[in-house]
Amino acid sequence: MTKSAPTVLTFGCRLNAYESEVMREHARASESGVETVIVNTCAVTAEAERQARQAIRKIRREKPDARIVVTGCAAQAHPETFAAMPEIDQILGNAEKMQPRIFSAPPAEKIVVGDIMQVREVASHLVSGFEGRARAFVEVQQGCDHRCTFCIIPFGRGPNRSVPMGRVVGQIRELVAAGYGEVVLTGVDVTAYGGDLPGQPSLGQLVRRLLALVPELPRLRLSSLDPVEVDKDLLTAIAEEERLMPHIHLSVQAGDDTILKRMKRRHLRGDVLELARHIRDLRPDVALGADIIAGFPTEDDAMFQHSLDLVDEAGLTHLHVFPFSARPGTPAARMPKVRGDVVKDRAARLRAKGEAALAEFLASRVGRDAQVLIERDGRGHCGHYLPVCVGGLEAEPGAIVQVRIVGVTDGVLVGREQ
Ligand code: SF4
Repeated sequence: MTKSAPTVLTFGCRLNAYESEVMREHARASESGVETVIVNTCAVTAEAERQARQAIRKIRREKPDARIVVTGCAAQAHPETFAAMPEIDQILGNAEKMQPRIFSAPPAEKIVVGDIMQVREVASHLVSGFEGRARAFVEVQQGCDHRCTFCIIPFGRGPNRSVPMGRVVGQIRELVAAGYGEVVLTGVDVTAYGGDLPGQPSLGQLVRRLLALVPELPRLRLSSLDPVEVDKDLLTAIAEEERLMPHIHLSVQAGDDTILKRMKRRHLRGDVLELARHIRDLRPDVALGADIIAGFPTEDDAMFQHSLDLVDEAGLTHLHVFPFSARPGTPAARMPKVRGDVVKDRAARLRAKGEAALAEFLASRVGRDAQVLIERDGRGHCGHYLPVCVGGLEAEPGAIVQVRIVGVTDGVLVGREQ
């Protein structure tokens, strides 16, 4: 029986990207002989779900005989929606998708989705690599115990649970041995790391420990952090660890205290400003980024202005802007909505604000040196997670090169190899 390489379509976050690699390795090992297409969905916005359904229909048209398996947070939260699609052969839950034999010995039922709230452990996997990527994502934490009023993720991912430190270190050693120059620690609420482990180690302790235990790891990057859960060891690592990249992304969501309270976030505007100031004192050249939602229900012009002003006051340069998207079953979906055109306009204004801040930051890098992780065709990202093009460079993806930044073209830094 010939093995056919599975096709994996990934939507959403870095955690999904990590899990897609695990599924790819499991499906590749199966001897089914039938071409398998795995669609790993995201439920963060209605748009993400719509795109997944559209992609599934297209795949079925192009591959009438393929076995189409749909999983991820949208499949976990709304299995019946996908079960109604004749194009799909099976729907797997977020826990089920990680079982090693789920592709080689698939259950007969169309819907194989368990109660994610009952899951207490993070399944143990080691991935050997990331197809077509120069940086590797490593899952350190899963699920979330918070209940922000706009968010559906806890219902797709279940409770907070952490990967024991030893396994994280083992995974990173394997990836560095495989040639990866950069690793990104990922999860749903990574700052909750360790809360469920013996001795309750913090994310900061994990970072310092793994940098000590894996001296051969050139670059470590963190995914989004909850502003009020940044622990003192993490601040020490930010201050002292050269190999921890100077790019910190914060899950801010809004710049107005009334809106933050209605979102049930655990921080206020002042906490974000204080943290930004503290991090900048510890690491003056740090780049700060943030997730911000535009048009959360009840947000008026003055409240929105507080989000715009926060970009300047906190010195944010890497902005991820999300137009509010009501998720069925969340408290925010029952709150009085902001008109759709106003939501769109606010998102556009926030993006423009972010782009202006980023352009200023890019210009400030000219004349300075940078280390660039090459991804492909002489292009990659520096430590600040800025795009860099190094003309005339013959370097393999994954190589880390030293450059002098000599200019900016179309939002990309131009580097000359040193
Ligand atoms: S912290 Fe809030 S926004 Fe983040 S995953 Fe948990 S509930 Fe969602």
